[in-house]
Amino acid sequence: MSDFNAFQMAQRQIKECCDKLELPAQYYELLKQPMRVVSAAIPVRMDDGSITVFEGYRSQHNLACGPGKGGIRFHHDVNLNEVRALSMWMTFKCSVLGLPYGGAKGGVCVDVSKLSRDELERLSRGYVRAIHPFVGDHLDIPAPDVGTNGQVMAWMGDEFDTIINGVHPGTFTGKPVNLNGSLGRTEATGGGITVAVREWAKKVGKDLSTATAVVQGLGNVGSYTAYGVFALGVKIIGMGDYDMNERAPISIHCPEGIDPYQARAYLTEHKTLKGFPGSTVITTDELFALQCDILLPCALENVITAERAKNVKAAVIVEGANGPTVPDADVILAEKGIVVVPDILANAGGVTVSYFEWVQNLGGYYWTMDEVNEKMDAKMSQAFTEVWDLSKSYGVTMRMAAYMLAIKRVSQAMYLKGWTNEEPKFK
Ligand code: NAD
Repeated sequence: MSDFNAFQMAQRQIKECCDKLELPAQYYELLKQPMRVVSAAIPVRMDDGSITVFEGYRSQHNLACGPGKGGIRFHHDVNLNEVRALSMWMTFKCSVLGLPYGGAKGGVCVDVSKLSRDELERLSRGYVRAIHPFVGDHLDIPAPDVGTNGQVMAWMGDEFDTIINGVHPGTFTGKPVNLNGSLGRTEATGGGITVAVREWAKKVGKDLSTATAVVQGLGNVGSYTAYGVFALGVKIIGMGDYDMNERAPISIHCPEGIDPYQARAYLTEHKTLKGFPGSTVITTDELFALQCDILLPCALENVITAERAKNVKAAVIVEGANGPTVPDADVILAEKGIVVVPDILANAGGVTVSYFEWVQNLGGYYWTMDEVNEKMDAKMSQAFTEVWDLSKSYGVTMRMAAYMLAIKRVSQAMYLKGWTNEEPKFK
């Protein structure tokens, strides 16, 4: 999807929801674009003594519900429109979960694979020098995204603290655990997806000990999702990931069931799933067409195309990855009666535990893993039920319901703050 389309698509989703909720026009006017976007030219001294100027951005879509929250992406495709669209989606993800945040996102157009560690550190610090007046633990709280990680957050936090002459660990989340990070953040996204699977089963009366699942992706999200559903008694009959030897996707079918811990270990050792004991190799198309109850796309965007949607036999798709289902496929899946638990709800366990990290930083008191997991479970189950109920009461898909719930909350906050003067009325 091009950057332009991402921004247009975000606007279209907002317009559709505002119309469905019968909101006065002023709400769409406020929500259709970010409230503030910072653009910066960041000079970085390279190891050879030359200077390269990188383009960086921070977009704050809407801060009615609280300070901004959203990752910082370092990628060669980063551009202003993409960052704006991603900040809009963050508003809705935070709002669906009822987190006291607005949506934000940042990025730098850079190929990180070409930077040395020292250059990456200088770029991270330079980015903070450029945007520091606009971030802070009560203003806008960045986190890692594609191309950034806990180490980058540690450098950025240090640069910020140096500039403001204080120690504010709550300004960045996704920090290493031994630098005021939270326990449970690594496992959180897959853990939240597991909660969504469990809650779906409760709603439809499905006994998970007789259920089957297919998982695409055995990275961070996919492996913790697979461990989670496996622990609930679900039999995983298909898996897909990337074959590093062949440099191509690889999928396997195993009717007797796959132990995800063994599959993960096999993938690490052999750099492929090919040859996993008891499995046969299938194509990615066949993986998505397997007869199963739960389909878990946890790797990439745009993998459930219209063509693949026609062949999906699962009862539910729980979106672990961001944007795995293309809009045309969504229509087909809805017609077939397949429930899609949308990414902004399903994979929000990660941002929820980022929120917990911030709460712990502000309080200066750190929780055990059990406390983190218990609180994440409560937030995810509540959000699942709210979206489910709204989808039933309006007769819309869970994706539409998730956006509607989010926009409802943001609209109420904007009205109470006096940013709008026509009261939103909901059924
Ligand atoms: P990751 O890099 O840890 O894992 C991605 C996995 O997909 C890897 O195992 C990789 O080998 C595999 N893969 C790559 N190309 C593939 C292909 N063509 N076919 C099949 N598999 C392929 O990334 P992640 O953190 O697990 O993120 C996965 C998705 O979840 C992304 O869409 C990300 O934006 C989204 N997400 C992640 C988090 C998080 O907390 N990590 C939170 C929300 C959403």
